[in-house]
Amino acid sequence: MRFRDRVALITGGGRGIGAATAQLLARQGAAVAVTDVDAGPAEEIAAGIRAEGGRALATACDVTDRAQVEAAVAQAVAEFGRLDILVTCAGIIRDNLIHKLTDDDWDGVINTHLKGTFLAVQAAQRHMVARRYGKIVLLSSTSALGNRGQANYAAAKAGLQGLARTLAIELGPFGINVNAVAPGFIETRMTRAVAERLGMDYEQLKQVVAAEIPLGRVGRPDDVANVIAFLCSDEAAYVSGQTIYVAGGPRG
Ligand code: NDP
Repeated sequence: MRFRDRVALITGGGRGIGAATAQLLARQGAAVAVTDVDAGPAEEIAAGIRAEGGRALATACDVTDRAQVEAAVAQAVAEFGRLDILVTCAGIIRDNLIHKLTDDDWDGVINTHLKGTFLAVQAAQRHMVARRYGKIVLLSSTSALGNRGQANYAAAKAGLQGLARTLAIELGPFGINVNAVAPGFIETRMTRAVAERLGMDYEQLKQVVAAEIPLGRVGRPDDVANVIAFLCSDEAAYVSGQTIYVAGGPRG
């Protein structure tokens, strides 16, 4: 119960890595505000947490909309009394080669990942600074290192690493740790969408990808949630401004 009395807010918490993180933090004692662009998936995850005896609320929150983000943070604080942990999982992909990327592909990805994270951090840090305590984890990706067909996403995910370092510098004096995790290929709706775009069977894609991964398998949402939970815990009290790759090993 390492998060007893802690309050966490997760963006994109209705599915995939965000949902696994919400469930794990709740199992370890945190009260969790599960937010997602649609209320349905967020409510489903929050209801599951409550059914297991945990504390959770669900909020529809589009991270690209300042008013919705500020309202979601305010609701979490009103309901649970404080905010200790922010994990920004909301994300989309709009993949295409550079000569085919549209303005919408670019703006959608940059706004969701970069502006969405900026808005969430800005709203959350006010409450953390006031209490001189906070843990913030941003979702980057191995795509930050470059990935064909993902110029928009790679730029956003590399940007998040710079954002994490800068926030660590600015917020460290207030007792706030800020880190990024950079997953590789994780089994979620997002990577299913990649298979669809490539016209490949998902199981076949996973096998192709796994063959390139030193640990020999693709990742699961829990693989990432476990590292996020560590970074949100006081065991990681002296870790800040780092990007931890959770990818089954480096590419050879
Ligand atoms: P999922 O698609 O499973 O979950 C992402 C969630 O974010 C979805 O519920 C999605 O809703 C939601 N979302 C999308 N846009 C917004 C928005 N504007 N406001 C609020 N919520 C939004 O993806 P993952 O769990 O795989 O991804 C989580 C994070 O991890 C993302 O930042 C992703 O980029 C990152 N990541 C994922 C990897 C992977 O292999 N899966 C690898 C590296 C990084 P909806 O489904 O309705 O769009």
